[in-house]
Amino acid sequence: MLMVEKIHHWRGEMKVNEPMSRHTSWRAGGVARRFYTPADVDDLCEFLRDMDPREPLLWLGLGSNLLIRDGGFPGTVIHTLGALNGLEWLDAVTLRTGVGVTCAKVARMTAQQGLTGAEFLAGIPGSMGGALAMNAGAFGGETWNHVAAVETVDRKGRLHKRLPEEYRVAYRTVEGVADEWFIAAQLVLQPGDVATAQSTIRELLARRGAEQPTNQYSCGSVFRNPPGDHAARLIEAAGLKGKTLGGAQVSEKHANYIINTGNASAADIETLLNQVQGRVEQLYDVRLETEVRIVGEHA
Ligand SMILES: Cc1cc2nc3c(=O)[nH]c(=O)nc-3n(C[C@H](O)[C@H](O)[C@H](O)COP(=O)(O)OP(=O)(O)OC[C@H]3O[C@@H](n4cnc5c(N)ncnc54)[C@H](O)[C@@H]3O)c2cc1C
Repeated sequence: MLMVEKIHHWRGEMKVNEPMSRHTSWRAGGVARRFYTPADVDDLCEFLRDMDPREPLLWLGLGSNLLIRDGGFPGTVIHTLGALNGLEWLDAVTLRTGVGVTCAKVARMTAQQGLTGAEFLAGIPGSMGGALAMNAGAFGGETWNHVAAVETVDRKGRLHKRLPEEYRVAYRTVEGVADEWFIAAQLVLQPGDVATAQSTIRELLARRGAEQPTNQYSCGSVFRNPPGDHAARLIEAAGLKGKTLGGAQVSEKHANYIINTGNASAADIETLLNQVQGRVEQLYDVRLETEVRIVGEHA
């Protein structure tokens, strides 16, 4: 159904029926009915104030942890990348970063400043918004270990400042106030030195390149590791490495990755994911939970 907007003063960019395959690292999926890139925080607040309160909303950074089904997203996607991208040092060890900044940029900036703690972010191909929402982590580091405060916006376009104590943060999950989204975070790092931080980044990126299919379309790890085990180990033990469905394939290099070999539909990916989950459960009585977020309508 075509919505008629009331007269508005937004300064951001609105697209209609935007293919989400352009905005997700799996390069698959249907269209978003509306796709809005705000000009800045004030513009975002105004946009939210104007919006129908029942409108389904999906916040999007770099789409590196999202599967949007082939039937698309029947609401509005808020695209933060390149929009909410402020970066500011609040003191010698505290960086305020907008959620549209990439994880890689935060890793580079903090290393250049001679600080340590954020090197793990270098190889996570997402935005800081996605990292906050997912508590992204790698090689022993986790996003929320460094969060001193976050700034959020609610559905009515009101801004809030919140402390970590207001969230339940765990391995790849963050639960907080419903219908509130991140717009910025204050990250606190530890004093270190430039050369060591930069060489740690190079080392971690090399390890990733050696262990993961980083040059193929994927969403990183599909499943969370179950307590005391590794999803990749179970999938490999089940003989599923290399298993293919349409254009989707369980990576030969890292069994917890499903890659789009070129023309996978979201349905190919989701069906393969379900088959992997079912087979591992059947063989080992372990129900793998997805780390990737799956949204939207079936075609
Ligand atoms: C090759 C590869 C390697 C990866 N390696 C790792 C890894 O080592 N560790 C790891 O943790 N992850 C990894 N990932 C997954 C992914 O990069 C992270 O989860 C990342 O933090 C997602 O950020 P994003 O901006 O792409 O989020 P998106 O995919 O755009 O969104 C992810 C979720 O966050 C929500 N979200 C996004 N922005 C906001 C916001 N501002 N406020 C509230 N919610 C928001 C979205 O609605 C969605 O539910 C990898 C992915 C790939 C493709």
